[in-house]
Amino acid sequence: MTLFRTAALLATLSLAPWSSSDDAPMRGFTPASARAEREWERKFVALPDPDSLREHMRYLSARPHHLGSPRDSANAAWIRDRLRGWGLAAEIETFRVLFPTPRERVVELVGPKRFVARLQEPALKADPTSGQQAEQLPTYNAYSPDGDVTAPLVFVNYGIPEDYDRLERLGVSVKGAIVIAKYGRSWRGIKPKVAAEHGAVGCLLYSDPDDDGYHAGDTYPDGPFRPRDGVQRGSVMDMPLFAGDPLTPGVGATADAKRLPRSEAPTIAKIPVQPLSYADAEPLLAAIGGRPAPADWMGGLPITYHVGPGPARVHLRLRFDWRLVPAYDVVARIPGAERPDEWVVRGNHHDAWVNGAEDPISGAIAVLEEARAYGALLKQGWRPRRTIVLALWDGEEPMLLGSTEWAETHAEELGRKAVAYLNTDGNGRGRLGASGAPSLARLLSEVARDVPDPETGLSVWKRSHLGEVATAGGADRRREARERSDLAVSPLGSGSDYTAFYHHLGIPSLDLGFGGEDDGGIYHSIYDSFHWFTTFSDTAFVYGQALARTVGLTTMRLASAEVLPYEFSRLSERVATNLKDVQDLHRTVRDSIEEQNRQIEESTFVAMNDPRRPLVTPAREEVPPFLNFAPLQNGATRLKSATSRFETAYAAAFTGDGHALDTPGMDRLNALLLRAERALAPPEGLPHRPWYRQLISAPGWYTGYVAKTMPGVREAIDAKRWPEAEAQAEALGRALEQEAGVLDEAAALLESAKANGR
Ligand SMILES: [Zn+2]
Repeated sequence: MTLFRTAALLATLSLAPWSSSDDAPMRGFTPASARAEREWERKFVALPDPDSLREHMRYLSARPHHLGSPRDSANAAWIRDRLRGWGLAAEIETFRVLFPTPRERVVELVGPKRFVARLQEPALKADPTSGQQAEQLPTYNAYSPDGDVTAPLVFVNYGIPEDYDRLERLGVSVKGAIVIAKYGRSWRGIKPKVAAEHGAVGCLLYSDPDDDGYHAGDTYPDGPFRPRDGVQRGSVMDMPLFAGDPLTPGVGATADAKRLPRSEAPTIAKIPVQPLSYADAEPLLAAIGGRPAPADWMGGLPITYHVGPGPARVHLRLRFDWRLVPAYDVVARIPGAERPDEWVVRGNHHDAWVNGAEDPISGAIAVLEEARAYGALLKQGWRPRRTIVLALWDGEEPMLLGSTEWAETHAEELGRKAVAYLNTDGNGRGRLGASGAPSLARLLSEVARDVPDPETGLSVWKRSHLGEVATAGGADRRREARERSDLAVSPLGSGSDYTAFYHHLGIPSLDLGFGGEDDGGIYHSIYDSFHWFTTFSDTAFVYGQALARTVGLTTMRLASAEVLPYEFSRLSERVATNLKDVQDLHRTVRDSIEEQNRQIEESTFVAMNDPRRPLVTPAREEVPPFLNFAPLQNGATRLKSATSRFETAYAAAFTGDGHALDTPGMDRLNALLLRAERALAPPEGLPHRPWYRQLISAPGWYTGYVAKTMPGVREAIDAKRWPEAEAQAEALGRALEQEAGVLDEAAALLESAKANGR
């Protein structure tokens, strides 16, 4: 508290930090247009207000507001009315989506002892909204199928593929068993998917106190971490296949859309899944016998974890109400004065699992502050060049429903018009984190230099930059981080509403948020509340303000830059790094298979085996062939030279106070730049999951949230599909050549304009 106050005081005493960089370059603007832009930006940053953020959160998180609930539609109408009140044209666009809610949930230990799980989060006196039980969704995993199974229990650690490799060595099979897995280390939907692939018939997920409970810190309400009865709800749909409504893949879930029968919906989980608190999980885990779990699998409960199978037997019975419910997206438009057919889209979801003060309201209120500020600027005569679309999505929690269905419905128009999508979700305290398209790293870094960090008085850029240096592994990486002037924008996996825009439509996107100082264990529980947030997270709403400033300015610059402010050298660098990564991966896989085969021949596994705790010897594997990465290497090289040619031409054309382009030239340049980024997401998409078209990164097939870079190539190597790995290296190489070709065209345009002496 003291630290924060001092820092806030410093921040107020120093000059407004955005006034210090008047002459700093602004990507996409000439000095003259940058001066006009700065005038408006100065007015903008003064507007986002902590009190207003707090009051909006108080209202929006006051009652449970999950998709399909009365409060969900009331919140949507309230948001629309606010937006209209600020002078923006706002509408609600409605979709009909499949959203199962629980009808019956039973988890019981039927042997050797009996225990019935409570499956209920108790109200806490300290937290007034935790007692709104009549409106709370019960604890469950959305898109688990109905099921009724009784089977022996097996503990599978985090339930990710490498844990099953370990089980195999231990000689333990999950065939016909119910597995119990810790939350964490992968997206939750991966766990039942991998369990079912190994023959399990049911899946229990629980939050281990080691991860976000009492081993992490004081538990709620004394501290921010997960109390014994806290449960993480969440979707278990097969999101890496496609996002959005499971019945309408690839098309908008409008009222009259053609729908798959539920029995044919491929993204619904294959086996029943139920989440548990650690209070409910402990008796189940304690009843498992067999071998003790490997030392690094032990969690934070005061028991020895065993692997099983059995003798613990569990009865799992789940029934759901499989209904179509309305999803209410609130969408507001500020028409562009000069380039109305180029759109900057900015969004955050408004639905929550329960009250959702942090997830998603802490991010949604930033959008509202940006909207309020834009309303005020419009009254003073501000007119952005391009159209700004502000969206508050519904149904993000079940599976990015509102954003995906909207993006699919307007896919053709977005494909032609959207220049960027800017996303936020829950927001905390600390450093700015950014993932997304490398081509937006320069723009974001310029903005972040102009926004003060509330706790340190440094700029948001400086704090994040120093954080990148401090956390870089090894001297080389540290040096590299120190020298880098643009913030590191990490590759996008999935887990929020950018997915349809970036991965499906190839629109350059950013996902932004402050974090690193906001640990807790209330995620997707009834304890993610106004009380929790205002006690433990961004209590003064100064990071909400910083977020509204950061994303607001990024939106404004995208909307008013003369030339789209993409910068491609970060992309070209990332491609080079990722190319080296996949080559290293291939080499590592080769080497480790060769080594393992050799150890099998040399009887190493016999020598290393403890006969009292025997391990199964792995089988010999075929050594992978050498692969031809040449088309990918050529594409990467071509992109690199096109990028530097474009940068040189750009710098030459934008010298002094003006630029070398006439109006049709400017139109063509912007159109080319927009096309350049689309080249990375060709219509054929990724193998086995063509909905995902972005070839630069995708949510991992077996990781979910975490991105796989060059996913086509990398996942083929992971799965040992060698011809596919080569075909994907070729496809990606082609996409890079195409992007390079467009950049060459853009460079030629600038060069000839310059030569013609305009
Ligand atoms: Zn969220």
